[in-house]
Amino acid sequence: MDEVLISRAIMESYFKNFLDALDVEVAIAGAGPSGMTAAYYLAREGVKIAVFERQLRVGGGMPGGGMMFNCIVVQEEGRRVLDEFEVRTKKYKDGLYVAHALEAVSALCLKAIKAGANIFNLISVEDVMIRESASGRDVITGLVLNWSAVSWSKLHVDPLTVRSRVVIDATGHDGEVCRIVSRKIGPRLRTSTGDIMGEKSMWSEKGEREILENTKEVYPGLIVAGMAANAVFGSPRMGAIFGGMLLSGKRAAEIALEKLRVERLLK
Ligand SMILES: Cc1cc2nc3c(=O)[nH]c(=O)nc-3n(C[C@H](O)[C@H](O)[C@H](O)COP(=O)(O)OP(=O)(O)OC[C@H]3O[C@@H](n4cnc5c(N)ncnc54)[C@H](O)[C@@H]3O)c2cc1C
Repeated sequence: MDEVLISRAIMESYFKNFLDALDVEVAIAGAGPSGMTAAYYLAREGVKIAVFERQLRVGGGMPGGGMMFNCIVVQEEGRRVLDEFEVRTKKYKDGLYVAHALEAVSALCLKAIKAGANIFNLISVEDVMIRESASGRDVITGLVLNWSAVSWSKLHVDPLTVRSRVVIDATGHDGEVCRIVSRKIGPRLRTSTGDIMGEKSMWSEKGEREILENTKEVYPGLIVAGMAANAVFGSPRMGAIFGGMLLSGKRAAEIALEKLRVERLLK
């Protein structure tokens, strides 16, 4: 067995994937539940997508369930999404269902990849790319990336970029991509203040209801999903219930698909 051949196999395969991801239709920041759900529904429709995840592992806050008890709770609508991913759920009571957090994370990741999503771990999104659109407005046209190890080590290393027609911010409660846009382009997000409004204290029902309204194009070319959507639009956190994250990911995919369809028609 030739060790160098093994190394060559890893590097050639990785770089083939990475080169393929340099120009995509949708780029997703964050491989938590909302990002991976969006990735699956887009890839299933044949959309070319790439997901960039900062951590070594995917799943965001899902593997930890609630307070490290690795079970997740979803409501009826969330259960239907888990059914599509073939995740087993058990009825608890009052329209609530429980699933194993690790089964859910594994299924989301497996289905997204098998549908054609290209998922990269250990890569952080540190900026966005912008261009002026035909209407004279700035539009987000891609992501600026670096190895997570570079930012964790605070090394002074220039990043690389990927181009995409649509970006989805699925970075969780920090809403990192939206925060970058607000800081660098100015407070021009489509919120009532133009800025990130900040997540409110826990109120599960309100948070779960509002997350779908908050999943939208928040800046030209940028859709916000999952916990980031509630943080950006000033809605409450919802605690350890994950249905909203799945539904928001699905909604973000629908919005992105619609944008891509309109663009194709205009071409
Ligand atoms: C640190 C943390 C804080 C949480 N805080 C809350 C909270 O305040 N309220 C609440 O209701 N629930 C919170 N949760 C719990 C719960 O896990 C979330 O409700 C749920 O997981 C959110 O799903 P999501 O897909 O929106 O984001 P997450 O599950 O948080 O996934 C986001 C993913 O994006 C990645 N990411 C973030 N920034 C970047 C970047 N710049 N580049 C690349 N990848 C990036 C993260 O590593 C993560 O994997 C938190 C979870 C975690 C891990």
